[in-house]
Amino acid sequence: MNQIDFSTAERHKVVIVGSGPAGLTAALYASRSNLEPVVFQGPEPGGQLITTTDVENYPGYPDGIMGPEMMQQFEEQARRFGADLRWGTVTSIDLSGTPFKMIVDEETPIIADTVIISTGASAQYLGLDNEKRLLGRGVSACATCDGAFFKDQEVAVVGGGDTAMEEALFLTRFASKVYLIHRRDSLRASKIMQDRVIASEKIEILWNRAVIDVLGENDVSGVRLKDTVSGEENDMDLQGLFLGIGHKPNTDIFKDWLNLDSNGYIQTEPDSTYTGVSGVFACGDAQDHVYRQAVTAAGTGCMAAIDAERWLAERE
Ligand code: NDP
Repeated sequence: MNQIDFSTAERHKVVIVGSGPAGLTAALYASRSNLEPVVFQGPEPGGQLITTTDVENYPGYPDGIMGPEMMQQFEEQARRFGADLRWGTVTSIDLSGTPFKMIVDEETPIIADTVIISTGASAQYLGLDNEKRLLGRGVSACATCDGAFFKDQEVAVVGGGDTAMEEALFLTRFASKVYLIHRRDSLRASKIMQDRVIASEKIEILWNRAVIDVLGENDVSGVRLKDTVSGEENDMDLQGLFLGIGHKPNTDIFKDWLNLDSNGYIQTEPDSTYTGVSGVFACGDAQDHVYRQAVTAAGTGCMAAIDAERWLAERE
């Protein structure tokens, strides 16, 4: 940050960091308030929905809509009112005082009167080549988004924490059978969630098993498992594989400036998007570890833009 000259840097009233439903909704509201927001779209413009197929739970789309198409529409709507959406990732930031300073793609200095953080979270994956290839074709990290596509089919959830328990329980509404694949012989999840999973007739827990490959040409047809105790390998047929091994909020660059909880989520004041730093607002999955839905992210994005607008108005 020290080597970069900010004396000729562009200055904006509102800079939005991230372009999922939260960031683009914030951009829509801020542009309609004539704040001429600039959005740095980040490494995955459109956010997590870009990797999903049908979105059937976003109100206003009775027939569902493809995730990428929905984000395209969010983008068009924000641009219509003048939001300036730019390629680029904010790679470092200084929130020590107003105006705030940031660097985009490690070279471009930008100054902002207010910052709206909507950097989202990324689901954790196992890191297997075929897992990546079959993402959206049977591999998913969101049972709420994709569970309904697996009606009367056999699926598996990987993980032993609360996310995996929630995913497995949710999937019992659709799937004929849900395997919970866990690498150890005890679960990390809260007792109440464990009890629910154990009580479910549809869920079978496969202990001490690691998924070492995902099988299938065009769609998932099974997984290869390895027994983490004996080392034995076996294949099993499945139509869906859900990862429940955690999410990581994309908040690393803010950790020196903002209050993060133990999992890295930005802490905001109750009933607002105010962070501990005046003029900096956080919304969407970077701040919400409970609901994590597109519609709730859009809602908090709207809140952040309104909070930023009022913050600026009070200082004019
Ligand atoms: P956790 O870190 O709690 O659990 C992750 C699980 O995934 C662990 O069981 C871990 O195994 C397993 N895992 C991690 N990496 C791998 C890997 N590479 N291969 C196989 N398994 C792996 O994450 P969660 O997302 O479940 O929860 C995060 C936080 O959010 C927790 O505090 C949780 O309580 C909370 N939460 C609360 C909910 C609720 O209250 N309704 C719902 C969802 C989350 P191992 O145990 O061996 O480390």
